[in-house]
Amino acid sequence: MKILTVLGARPQFIKAAAFSRAIKKYEGVEEIIVHTGQHYDQNMSDVFFKEMDIPLPKYRLHTGGKTHGAMTGQQLEKIEEILLLEKPDIVLVYGDTNSTLAGALAAVKLHIPVAHVEAGLRSYNRKMPEEINRILTDQISSYLFVPSIGARQNLLNEGVNEGKIFVVGDIMYDVSLFYKEKMIKPNWFDSLNLNNFILCTIHRAENTDDAIKLSNIFKGLGLSNKDIILPLHPRTVSKIKEHNISIPSNIKIVEPVGYLEMVWLEVHCDLIVTDSGGVQKEAYFHGKYCVTLREETEWIELVNHGLNKLVGCNDSLIANALCDFAQSEIDIKNIYGNGSTAYQIIRILEAY
Ligand code: UDP
Repeated sequence: MKILTVLGARPQFIKAAAFSRAIKKYEGVEEIIVHTGQHYDQNMSDVFFKEMDIPLPKYRLHTGGKTHGAMTGQQLEKIEEILLLEKPDIVLVYGDTNSTLAGALAAVKLHIPVAHVEAGLRSYNRKMPEEINRILTDQISSYLFVPSIGARQNLLNEGVNEGKIFVVGDIMYDVSLFYKEKMIKPNWFDSLNLNNFILCTIHRAENTDDAIKLSNIFKGLGLSNKDIILPLHPRTVSKIKEHNISIPSNIKIVEPVGYLEMVWLEVHCDLIVTDSGGVQKEAYFHGKYCVTLREETEWIELVNHGLNKLVGCNDSLIANALCDFAQSEIDIKNIYGNGSTAYQIIRILEAY
């Protein structure tokens, strides 16, 4: 079986680490990786291939830094050329980026079955580019690997054939379990002289592109008397400059970190504040509560269990949540499977 995997953005490299490692144990299963170049900075891309031992991409496209339409269009054209050359049995895509949609669309038009990992998630906010990418990818995929019963139900509600849906848990849990053993303390950490800290990430376009929302987020974080470490995504860096936002003194901005350092920060922080999808789940995997800088989330199970609080961009809600939110250890287990997602996916694909 020849699987062609399309990757493009940081969370996809991280998810791919689990699958590519599992695949190595299966004889007769070959994986070819296409990197669309959607994320291209060293610390947003290459670091993950190196430290997570992900096989190097056979094809590297250069489609980053463009508008959504231009990026998706170029990816579609170039992935089609590669598919015609490689003739894979299956195209595998992860998550909800432009690379996900372009990979799926190029494949389905050539009648190559598409496997979508992290299918069925919905924010029900169609202004998010990610939501459009998810809905369209799910509609054209043959194998929908969903992380939870709720995601399965979302697909059934949209009329997706039940036989295509497989509840396999969350592949990021496989990744979290494996790399927790290998986590690394960032070399700058001790120089910050912090006893306790909150870990924060901010990158989602709906927050960064709106000057008022972004400045409210920083205002809310600044109202807290706690130290906050913020590894800053390149998009947010440029938007802070563009919107001329001043950074409160309790916020320590650092460069984006590699995954092994990120896990160390997640394990050692008191609380996580984020607008990232992946980081919300990692908070739970590492036993931390999460404050989410969004109005809605795809990972609704965490909110329903009281482990995640949605505060949007309201400065006082943010500040109150940082003060009040419980900080004891979480002991609710296995909301998103048992960490064997990659193996389940391979077995299902092999069987078909
Ligand atoms: N991450 C990382 N370094 C950072 C920030 C995030 O390795 O400086 C990891 C994080 O642990 C998670 C993934 O990147 O596994 C989440 O990616 P991102 O927040 O960019 O995207 P999303 O999950 O929202 O799609």
